[in-house]
Amino acid sequence: HLDRIGEVDGAVHAFLNVDAEGALAAARAVDTALAGGQAPASPIAGVPLALKDVLATKGLATTCGSKTLENWVPPYDATVTRKLREAGVPILGKTNMDEFAMGSSTENSAFGPTRNPWDHTRIPGGSGGGSSASLAAFEAPLAIGTDTGGSIRQPGAVTGTVGVKPTYGGVSRYGLVAFSSSLDQAGPCARTVLDAALLHEVIAGHDPLDSTSIDAPVPPVVAAAREGLRGDLTGVKVGVVTEFSGEGYQAGVQRSFEAAVDQLRALGAEVVEVSCPNFVYALPAYYLIAPSEASSNLARFDAMRYGLRVADDGTHSAEEVMSLTREAGFGPEVKRRIMLGTYALSSGYYDAYYGSAQKVRTLITRDFEAAFAQVDVLVSPTTPTTAFKIGERVDDPMAMYLADLCTIPANLAGNAAMSVPSGLSDEDGLPVGLQIMAPALADDRLYRVGAAYE
Ligand code: GLN
Repeated sequence: HLDRIGEVDGAVHAFLNVDAEGALAAARAVDTALAGGQAPASPIAGVPLALKDVLATKGLATTCGSKTLENWVPPYDATVTRKLREAGVPILGKTNMDEFAMGSSTENSAFGPTRNPWDHTRIPGGSGGGSSASLAAFEAPLAIGTDTGGSIRQPGAVTGTVGVKPTYGGVSRYGLVAFSSSLDQAGPCARTVLDAALLHEVIAGHDPLDSTSIDAPVPPVVAAAREGLRGDLTGVKVGVVTEFSGEGYQAGVQRSFEAAVDQLRALGAEVVEVSCPNFVYALPAYYLIAPSEASSNLARFDAMRYGLRVADDGTHSAEEVMSLTREAGFGPEVKRRIMLGTYALSSGYYDAYYGSAQKVRTLITRDFEAAFAQVDVLVSPTTPTTAFKIGERVDDPMAMYLADLCTIPANLAGNAAMSVPSGLSDEDGLPVGLQIMAPALADDRLYRVGAAYE
């Protein structure tokens, strides 16, 4: 994999930082343990992985795609990082991402865009474009992403790979640089559903260092993937979300989705239409809640505690150093979100904006509850379109935000959701994703249906 990275990453730019030495040392440690007669530390011991640069790695730079953290080397490992190391998984390096995970194309990275391995003129999705591109380019067999509004699933869909957003609280957020704490969730990325399940079981589980971590057994995702691979969905009830079709959906994506639904039926599933009327308000609610939380979370980048500090020449006040550092360190999208969030939270506006968005969030959760009283899983296209061209949406934030139309409801409700490859669009020959959504703590259903379908 290191050789492959050497060959293709100059063009793809999935990695911000490759840690060949660390990866080889971890791989050798696995070899030594096995040669000494020890059992492997996990089923994926020795299988290398690409880690999104939003998760803290002790002794290895963690930039979040931002100039603000360009030189920040964490003194500790995120819980996900620690679990990977304990499982004998060599970490190949840190992958490119939209700055602070804000974006849908990886073009908001301060260190240049990642290119879609299927077509280098197109985006690999975002914010975790680097992780999914590394899989599609065969630079890594496993990767970790984080999903606040779709950043695992949307890059998975447009690169033809698998991406899973576990139930909120299923994977620890300790050491995951916070964007929107009530939505952020780390999860597995892989080329097959079973690979994703094996990685899921390694990173999931209760963590006392994360107060929102769920203290419950990890859903049996590997067993469910193996069950799914038998290719029989008899007894499974699948709901097609009526709201996620029509205007704005490419015809090729729509046809791929209809074919996917036919295939689920052919595998034995019972398919019904389910209406979730409040899902159409998910996007506007998200773009109030996520920036509000971001404006608060990003206040910690004050030029004193982490990374970048400019104008520290003795002629500027502490306040000037803070404001000049934030001016220099944050890119335009991050500034836009901080301003939007600060405004939405300010006194007099709080109830009108943030308060209403939280009410919409409750209505979306109720839509899911009503739907899951009727069906086991819900399905939709993962994204309304295939990968768009680099540069096409950079000047149009609203167009960029539409990439997450179908993925956001699961974040707002905290449910589990997956994107699984659904073939190529008959319109442009680019990958399309099928989104599967399950209730919180029922992540195993995604794996059963996803493995049967893929
Ligand atoms: N594209 C969405 C945003 O810009 C989602 C990002 C994410 O899931 N981290 O906020």
